[in-house]
Amino acid sequence: MDKDKMKKILKIVLNVIIIAAILLATATAIYFIYTTQKEKNSEENILSYTELINEINNNNVEKIEMTVGSTSVKVKLKGVEEEKTSLMKDLQVMAFTDLVQSKKLEGSDIELVTNPQSFLSQLPSYIMSILPTVIMFALLIMLFKMQGLGDKGEVYDDTERKEKITFDDIAGLDEEKEELKELVDFLKEPKRFSDMGAKIPKGVLLYGKPGTGKTLIAKAIAGEAGVPFISMSGSEFIEMFAGLGASRVRKLFDRARRLSPCIVFIDEIDAIGSRRTSNSGAETENNQTLNQLLVEMDGFSSEETIIVLAATNRPEMLDKALLRPGRFDRQVTIPAPDLRGREEILKIHAKDKKLAEDVSLHDIAEDTAGFTGAELANILNEAAIIATRKQHEGITNSDLDEAVKKVTVGLEKTSRMISEKDKKLTAYHEAGHAIVSRFLPTQTAVKEVSIIPRGMAGGYTMYKSDEDKYYISKTEMEEKLIALLGGRAAEKLILNDISTGASNDIEVATQIAKDMVTVYGMSDIIGPISLKDNEGQLEYQMFGDDMQDAIGKEVKKLIDIAYRDAQEILKQNVETLHAIASELIAKEKINEADFNKFFN
Ligand code: ADP
Ligand code: ZN
Repeated sequence: MDKDKMKKILKIVLNVIIIAAILLATATAIYFIYTTQKEKNSEENILSYTELINEINNNNVEKIEMTVGSTSVKVKLKGVEEEKTSLMKDLQVMAFTDLVQSKKLEGSDIELVTNPQSFLSQLPSYIMSILPTVIMFALLIMLFKMQGLGDKGEVYDDTERKEKITFDDIAGLDEEKEELKELVDFLKEPKRFSDMGAKIPKGVLLYGKPGTGKTLIAKAIAGEAGVPFISMSGSEFIEMFAGLGASRVRKLFDRARRLSPCIVFIDEIDAIGSRRTSNSGAETENNQTLNQLLVEMDGFSSEETIIVLAATNRPEMLDKALLRPGRFDRQVTIPAPDLRGREEILKIHAKDKKLAEDVSLHDIAEDTAGFTGAELANILNEAAIIATRKQHEGITNSDLDEAVKKVTVGLEKTSRMISEKDKKLTAYHEAGHAIVSRFLPTQTAVKEVSIIPRGMAGGYTMYKSDEDKYYISKTEMEEKLIALLGGRAAEKLILNDISTGASNDIEVATQIAKDMVTVYGMSDIIGPISLKDNEGQLEYQMFGDDMQDAIGKEVKKLIDIAYRDAQEILKQNVETLHAIASELIAKEKINEADFNKFFN
């Protein structure tokens, strides 16, 4: 069933219930007002209880009409045309009936008519009795809905998808796909494996950053094997009522057993499966959910052929109980794509897009080191939007460039008014970054310098990323610090004043310097010691206060040296700095070729 459709139906049902409750309440209120009004109007026709008894005793009554369950009695007096009404209290009804009966036994000619209870006369009290229940239910459902249970309670179900996702929809990740193909065979022919005595794996953990394609892989395994795919996300539990997490897990696995063989996918499993540390409310709730998950995983036998795939980007957070044999005992790391992978991902997502002749997806792949599959897909989509807005025939290279910048630095803000003073400051700042990095061997070439604001930045210097790196050397990190401080150094050197424009540079530089000292063991004085604990907190207590002082001194030294070096480079190239800054003020943007012309 379509999830959106379900949501819509649920919403309509809810609204109907609420409206019905309101209507019922109004109708009852009106009825009561109406009936009491009517009784008031006919006051002169009312006979009090004592009067009625007197009339009966005096033999003046011709006919009495009663209705079961009602306390009002219609009385016809002898020789009086109009019928009178007498209201009595509940307790008086019995005594009254007894009195009339005994009068009849005494030979009185009173005619006593007893009408059966009419449904209509009962309706108001009937409504009144169920009204609170109806309102309660409406409120409860509303509450559940607000808690995100109403619609999220359903398990995402991919069984009715027409177009199955297959391994062909996944670019790169060749080794990972190879490893997971085994699961497809298990799901397709479980009997072959069990006949041989092999146990079918129950759980596989996929490690990787968001957007690297973990969900895609899980779906593709289901698609390749032709089995149903059902899923839920761990983060949904955080916002739920106590005890609901566990019942959701139970529901999920009940469904899985019915659909077996099938794939169960649990996204963000760290939200429920994080290490059991404290005993706060949320923790206990998570524990219940986690325990239920463990019970379910231990519960199904390998003949049931349910394979549970779970995704996380924080494997170190997971409770070790999850990783025991028979649970998630297989782990596959899904890395961010390398250059070739990125090009392939771009190709897959470009299939349904109109590209201009000149487009080189290889170039885009080169410019997007560290991007995930989801980000690359997003870039192609952004490019398509840009191309449409600019009324291009197809997506051009410049549209793609623009999309990359939009995703990395933010949207270009050409309309923002900038004062001449700010423009000058930004020009020197950015020129400072660009010139300094040009003289640093480990830093990549400058691709573009701009003083047009983009996103949060007043200007930017873009560098080329020409290779995928797995390791970064100490020299490289030191030079990165120099490049980062090049902006501030130029401000100081030329304007003899410094601005807040460098705050982000300084933040990044300080973080790098801290990591060099406390994580990567790159300081000679501290030595190769990692000072961060599992949670990423600095942990120097065991080394005493001296260590704390030393860390601070080492971080400061790295920054001071970098700042001094940046100023040194700029001093030696002050002519170029002026030239590039003026060019920026005039043109606002300098590309790679124009930038290089300043250095011949
Ligand atoms: P995760 O589950 O790791 O957060 P997803 O599987 O949800 O990531 O990926 C989001 C989207 O990114 C996918 O739907 C797909 O469009 C794209 N994507 C990610 N990795 C790849 C890949 N290797 N090949 C093709 N598309 C990918
Ligand atoms: Zn800067």
